[in-house]
Amino acid sequence: MFDMKLMVQVKLLPSPEQEAALASTLHACNEAANRVSERAFQQRVYGRVPLQKLVYADLKATGLAAQASLHVIRKVADAYTVLHAQVSGGLMRERGRRRAQSKPVTFRPKAAQPFDDRCLSWWWENNTVSIWTVQGRIRGIPFTATARQLEMLTRYRKGETDLVHRAGKWFLIATCEVPEAPLNDEPSDWIGIDRGIVNLVTTSDGRDHQGSGLTRYRRRMARVRAEMQSKGTKSAKRKLQSRARREARHASCVNHRIAKEIVADAQRTGRGIAVENLRGIRDRIRLRRHQRAMLSRWPYHQIVAYLAYKALRAGVPFVQVDAAYTSQTCPRCGHVSRRNRPRRDDFRCQVCGLAGPSDHIAAVNVRQRARVAWVFVNAPDAAEESGREPRRAASTQPPVASS
Ligand SMILES: [Zn+2]
Repeated sequence: MFDMKLMVQVKLLPSPEQEAALASTLHACNEAANRVSERAFQQRVYGRVPLQKLVYADLKATGLAAQASLHVIRKVADAYTVLHAQVSGGLMRERGRRRAQSKPVTFRPKAAQPFDDRCLSWWWENNTVSIWTVQGRIRGIPFTATARQLEMLTRYRKGETDLVHRAGKWFLIATCEVPEAPLNDEPSDWIGIDRGIVNLVTTSDGRDHQGSGLTRYRRRMARVRAEMQSKGTKSAKRKLQSRARREARHASCVNHRIAKEIVADAQRTGRGIAVENLRGIRDRIRLRRHQRAMLSRWPYHQIVAYLAYKALRAGVPFVQVDAAYTSQTCPRCGHVSRRNRPRRDDFRCQVCGLAGPSDHIAAVNVRQRARVAWVFVNAPDAAEESGREPRRAASTQPPVASS
């Protein structure tokens, strides 16, 4: 059994006084973080423990509570760890790298702040939290959460929670550690999944999972957006942002539902799930903020992430296979040609005549590749040669993102 980490975000509904206390706390913590970051940079001390030795006394002297001081120090140390990983991992261009290394990491006044259980407690009887602030401990701040979120939180919440202030609203982002079901390591077959052109995803069973409703919704929202953009006022801009977020929430909801259906189907039928490998993305552990944002807006990427973690949780094997030519290969005779696809959503093999919707054909090819990949990785010889543990290696790609 393994635990997987998921993030759950709930909205806080603070009164004006509570909100003022939260705001001054976030500001105080981030000011302190900037001071710590400067010291770290000047003295080239980046590790959490040495940094703590260096600045803890000073921090406390400025009036920050003990736990908050420790969190601030950790936040700074973590930020440098990420920065250094990005630099050494070659994820930054030369100019960006030089710029990033020439000055201390800075934190915006509203940057998120982590709280542990001593500084933040949850009250499930009335859905409130009590939280440490620079104005003392504040009790009874209400929060809203869906039934699913509440269940996750009460059962699995563990460790730290981030306080986030975004677009005038307050959120808590809590970490949940959800146990995985034991892995079904002898899947009877695979459900191949193609990122669709007409549909969001199509399975090798020939099931389309609707993207059309989503597309319609997107188009409607785009129209509204265009109208608001042409106004160009500040309030229009704010409305625009909230529209964009609502849109993202809707897409994410649809993707959750589709992923859930597919995983339930796989679990019921004892099969695994196979998706196309997104080249160049899978192996990068850390991405810059705008890259992450871009990726998470790409619906296919999000649905793959949801599939990965839901599969993991349900013990359903999940593999990513080579995506090359899945849309041009004939699954019956193996003939590969661009001419196998006379039209975008039509497949017709030039050699054997097999015909069908191109999304479905591609999904069948994904399933075919998963069968081969699974046999290869699980063959005892292959495992000995590569010296890797056979089953885990093939079955569980880490979830790309979580929600
Ligand atoms: Zn053929």
